[in-house]
Amino acid sequence: MTIPVPADFIAKLKAVLGPGGWSDDPDKLAVKLTESRDRWTGTTPLLTLPRTTAEVSAIVGLCAESGVAITPQGGNTGLVGGQIPQGEILLSLERMNAIRDLDTADDVIVAEAGVTLAAVREAAANAGRLFPLGLASEGSATIGGNISTNAGGTQVLRYGNMREQVLGLEAVLPNGEIWNGLKRLRKDNTGYDLKQLLIGAEGTLGVITAASLKLRPLLPSRAVAFVGLKTPADAVSLLMRARDETGGALEAFELISRAGMGLVIKHIPDQREPLADEHPWYVLIETASGEPGSAEAAMERLLAHAFEDGLIQDAAIAQTDAQARAFWALRENQSGAQKREATAWKHDVSVPVSRIAGFIEESTAAIARRWPEVRVVAFGHVGDGNVHYDVLPAPGGDPAVHAARRDEAATLVHDLVVSLGGSIRAEHGLGMMKTAEALHYKSPVEVEAQRAIRRALDPKRIMNPRVLF
Ligand SMILES: Cc1cc2nc3c(=O)[nH]c(=O)nc-3n(C[C@H](O)[C@H](O)[C@H](O)COP(=O)(O)OP(=O)(O)OC[C@H]3O[C@@H](n4cnc5c(N)ncnc54)[C@H](O)[C@@H]3O)c2cc1C
Repeated sequence: MTIPVPADFIAKLKAVLGPGGWSDDPDKLAVKLTESRDRWTGTTPLLTLPRTTAEVSAIVGLCAESGVAITPQGGNTGLVGGQIPQGEILLSLERMNAIRDLDTADDVIVAEAGVTLAAVREAAANAGRLFPLGLASEGSATIGGNISTNAGGTQVLRYGNMREQVLGLEAVLPNGEIWNGLKRLRKDNTGYDLKQLLIGAEGTLGVITAASLKLRPLLPSRAVAFVGLKTPADAVSLLMRARDETGGALEAFELISRAGMGLVIKHIPDQREPLADEHPWYVLIETASGEPGSAEAAMERLLAHAFEDGLIQDAAIAQTDAQARAFWALRENQSGAQKREATAWKHDVSVPVSRIAGFIEESTAAIARRWPEVRVVAFGHVGDGNVHYDVLPAPGGDPAVHAARRDEAATLVHDLVVSLGGSIRAEHGLGMMKTAEALHYKSPVEVEAQRAIRRALDPKRIMNPRVLF
């Protein structure tokens, strides 16, 4: 519930922040009150633009005193509406964009919350290190947003989600107090780990202002391959082999359907079929290693054995960086191509890896029984058990009719996911979009424990009040 803003509150806030610390420029506001899927439009009594942690603390402190609600926003690339205020004060981290430190002895980078993921990856690469979170949205998505959504991406298989990259946090808690937890330790067993609560909290337990993040070695030996195969079950078998046979070099393993490939070729300029013939399913595999030539050799061995055994139908290994980028573009354009075709029912789900093939088969059969005309376009991070299970209307189908069936389809898909031991949200969080639905599937014990934590830290529920439980 959004708490009303007292009459003199906005004037007080403006005075504390000074010129430049807030904006009511309609053009600037328009960009921050809409999002990429055009699903949510927001309103706010004031856009605040703090430059320092002390200013964030002043904003949150004033809001806490008056019981005024706040929505934090980073790069506004979130896909579930959590960053779009519905009457709350909008707190943008865009001006907190300094890299405070990079230390290769500690293998750490300390970045403010508003630094983009791309800028962190570039700074790491310039220092001869890897920051291993990679997202198609990394040019705009920020470190604060990545942490608050516990973002995943294409290298989770090897390095884990954002949670695994965070060594320490600095945050402003819902009462306005600054918590300096910017440690750079790999070991710290001193009670509850507050940073773990803030990671994935979607802005409900405070405002993250900076983070210390792990750096990894750059791995110069790298191979990228595109593989054609018959079924998702074959893709999972190939994944098992890749894990066993590449000596720890497996870095990404992404599934793409023929339907999804066709849409990319149709809608995205300059995209070409990766293999001579069409195949029902594809995987994109990347291996990486520190030893020159070894990732390439591991890939060649893996694919040669799989081909001999009839597990795969065809494969191409990228011979140049440009070809590797072209292979990745086919994967990264899956969502964009779909959007140009029609509006899909989208399900960002995860199941145990061993159940991926069964999930895709069963849900596709169930959808076809109920709505024989629709088109399933499944793709995703098979190595993490994460499938983007999207469903488009028939070509020329009525978008309004399709939209009206979205909730029924979600129930069908999510009931199956939960029965297989999976989660109805793998990557994108709950936000405004999925909070109510998640309540239906979460255990009441877990929901009450989460509510108790939130009440303890934010008794007036001022932080992102519409999001989570
Ligand atoms: C093309 C595209 C591809 C994507 N691919 C992926 C993908 O592969 N994997 C994936 O996980 N996601 C993906 N996303 C989703 C999105 O990019 C991520 O959720 C990202 O982490 C959001 O970062 P952001 O800075 O844009 O956060 P925002 O969208 O601004 O905010 C997201 C949430 O975090 C909160 N928040 C933001 N900053 C802070 C802060 N400093 N303190 C407290 N709370 C804060 C907001 O209130 C909101 O609830 C993709 C999105 C797009 C558009």
